[in-house]
Amino acid sequence: MLKRAFQTIVAALLVLVAAVAINTFLKGSRQLQVAPLAPLAIDEAAAAERLAQAVRLKTVSSATDASLNEDQFLALHALLQKQFPKVHATLKREVVNGLSLLYAWEGKDPEAPAILLAAHQDVVPIAPGTEANWQEPPFAGIVKDGYIWGRGSWDDKGNLLSQLEAMEMLVASGWQPPRTVYLAYGADEEVGGHRGAAQLAELLKSRGVTLDFVIDEGLLVLDGVLPGLKVPAGVIGIAEKGYMSVVLKATATPGHSSMPPRPGTSAIGGMSAALNALETHQMPAGFTGVAGEMFGVLAPEMGGFSRVALSNLWLFGPVVRKQLENAPSTNAMLRTTTALTIVHAGNKDNVLPGEADATVNFRILPGDTRGSVMAHVHAAVDKVADKAHMKIEQLPGSKEASKVATTSSRQYQTLNRTIREVFPDAIVAPGLMVAATDSVHYESMSDHVFKFSPVRANSEDLKRFHGTNERLSVKGYADAIRFYHRLITQLEQVER
Ligand SMILES: [Zn+2]
Repeated sequence: MLKRAFQTIVAALLVLVAAVAINTFLKGSRQLQVAPLAPLAIDEAAAAERLAQAVRLKTVSSATDASLNEDQFLALHALLQKQFPKVHATLKREVVNGLSLLYAWEGKDPEAPAILLAAHQDVVPIAPGTEANWQEPPFAGIVKDGYIWGRGSWDDKGNLLSQLEAMEMLVASGWQPPRTVYLAYGADEEVGGHRGAAQLAELLKSRGVTLDFVIDEGLLVLDGVLPGLKVPAGVIGIAEKGYMSVVLKATATPGHSSMPPRPGTSAIGGMSAALNALETHQMPAGFTGVAGEMFGVLAPEMGGFSRVALSNLWLFGPVVRKQLENAPSTNAMLRTTTALTIVHAGNKDNVLPGEADATVNFRILPGDTRGSVMAHVHAAVDKVADKAHMKIEQLPGSKEASKVATTSSRQYQTLNRTIREVFPDAIVAPGLMVAATDSVHYESMSDHVFKFSPVRANSEDLKRFHGTNERLSVKGYADAIRFYHRLITQLEQVER
């Protein structure tokens, strides 16, 4: 009897192992096989110097003061005119809403849906007190040891100028785009893009423009960043998370702290319970949507157990999910995140406050909505807090998650192919952008909006983004130019 049971268990285990092995084996690489591109000849030193000159202009934007550093933005416009004379002689240039730039290179077929390359002129400020930690002063625009140093060298003047470098070369070669190419450069992306990209998009829409393809800054060629993956991965952002902040207000009878009320009924006690409930009961995490697509493409490229586990989520799903949830960067790909960001209550050690308020920030996963997040907040808070003493309100400035671009499209596949050609050692996968970009403003004009920057980055580099010692390698910058040059010429296939 015991022997029989043992045999059954062994047989079941063998079937399981076989199923896992077959599944792993069947899920082979989904990478496009393309020949590496012969590198386009570029005067790297001259291009690096042009980018360094742009870095020297302190184009820090402000949410409240549209005219902050206006002189610096205007100096950047003049610098670009000087640096890219052929672009300025051939493309139509417009200044939109004061500081934003729109270039149009008319295609042979002006009626065909156009291509739009986006980037932003503005940069984030230097965190006060960190100036001295920079190896090179942040706005000195120094080229040294193979890098262009300074604020904006990567985010996002690197993208902006490499696009113009590519256009300058294409104009010089006599090439003419089959469909119209727009270059859209907002001046306030870092503070939401409402004066820049939003206005650029409105202007184009008012002219009846439709877009076949949009590319803006975003995910990168990640090297050694994704656990279990030994090769670099060019991750194309096919969607962007939404944004919402919720304010909770707890009220209670104010009084003397010598006779406190029952536990959980003070303003601070009620608020603590509500915040604890929100932090411990997060929105569900899963492998559906963009994350599922991303891991599906990455799995066959991984080694060892990572490959086995990701190829068999039917079995290892809970284990893998737990592991990904433990790292903030991967957790953010799997769910709508909940972050407790502001708390106010009390002002005297012996007084019970009559009010406590707190702000909670949510980054909404495509598939969830502001409405479903609000329902979740109410459900979690109502269990622990007295409804009569807890108010929940949405802050203005929220937005839904973006649309999700399909990966089977000609547009995605062209981008995929270009990355494989210009970065031949890298694989390509779709991914989710967890931060905000200007590209969402163009969403209503195209189903093919991508968030990708042709820049290699390892974990150490990622800290420089919006941080100290931002820099871009001269070689990497040349690859970015090659990338845009190739992309534009490959997107030429005109389909209506
Ligand atoms: Zn940026």
